[in-house]
Amino acid sequence: MQQKIILVTGGTGAQGGSVAKALLAQNKFAVRILTRNANSQNAMTLKELGAEVITGDMNDIESLKTAMQDCYGVYGVTNFWEHFENEYQQGKNMVHAVKATGISHFIFHTLPDYNKLSNGKYPTPHCDMKAALQEYTKLLNIPATFLQVAFYYENFLNFFTLQKAADGTYYFGFPQGNTKLAMVSVEDIGGMAATIFDYPAEYIGRTVGAVGADDTCEKYAAVLSKALGKKIKYNYIPHDVYAAFDFPAAGEIANTFEVQRLYIPNRQIDMIESYGLNPDMLTFESWAKKNKTKIEQAIKSEAVV
Ligand code: NAP
Repeated sequence: MQQKIILVTGGTGAQGGSVAKALLAQNKFAVRILTRNANSQNAMTLKELGAEVITGDMNDIESLKTAMQDCYGVYGVTNFWEHFENEYQQGKNMVHAVKATGISHFIFHTLPDYNKLSNGKYPTPHCDMKAALQEYTKLLNIPATFLQVAFYYENFLNFFTLQKAADGTYYFGFPQGNTKLAMVSVEDIGGMAATIFDYPAEYIGRTVGAVGADDTCEKYAAVLSKALGKKIKYNYIPHDVYAAFDFPAAGEIANTFEVQRLYIPNRQIDMIESYGLNPDMLTFESWAKKNKTKIEQAIKSEAVV
């Protein structure tokens, strides 16, 4: 019997790649990935692993419908950090294509509405637009599960690398304060999504959080100190100070942490469910040990704050 097909958008990226690889390893579904460039290294690697690679663009709804033809399921990732406010239209295109092709189970990555959580004080488009897309999906009665993915552990390798201070110690900093910060390895999202696809009756209509660790940044600094054998500190950078930093997304990122600091005290329930869905999920401690060299290689030598 032919396997049912799942289309993964963003399959060449971190999150979609994790989902595509987990589904391929499980071999219960056939995997199709959507990419703008079928010749990229990541696309070719997935093809070698057994994925069908289809060229398309989330700006082009017809290419999405073609990609979803004959599919049972879709795992949908949109990328704010490349397209900014156009993420909403791309997400809408995806939702319309899902509806038009009669997909049986759509897992849509999403985030909470931070603007609403803060009563309009801290608009955070990369979260708010995903939440709006979630509402739009519900409005169209699409059989969907929404996966609220926490801050990736992997951000310590790119967006929030450790910095070396003048006194020889190391630090990372943002406006999270003492509030617990939920995090997850992006590589563990795939195992969660694969289980959700296995249990459509239980998961259609639900919003699930993907969380592998839920602790304070001070605790994470202690975990990193132990794993790397270096003194690593967390610096609380207040919202307004961070928002004034000289890079384009500073305000957006400052708002993200401020909403979490003030309105999301913890995500323990999400963490418990995540380990149930993917028992192989990495704790931050095991991730830090496994990625010690990569974290060290990413360290910035210039003290910025
Ligand atoms: P990524 O590694 O940069 O991958 C982006 C993917 O999107 C690529 O596979 C790319 O495919 C695809 N893509 C981009 N534009 C496309 C288009 N117009 N048409 C078709 N495909 C397109 O990013 P990621 O981390 O997997 O996902 C980013 C999303 O995750 C963001 O929206 C972010 O808000 C969310 N998120 C991030 C975190 C975090 O902590 N970093 C946490 C939760 C959620 P090709 O280039 O091959 O076409």
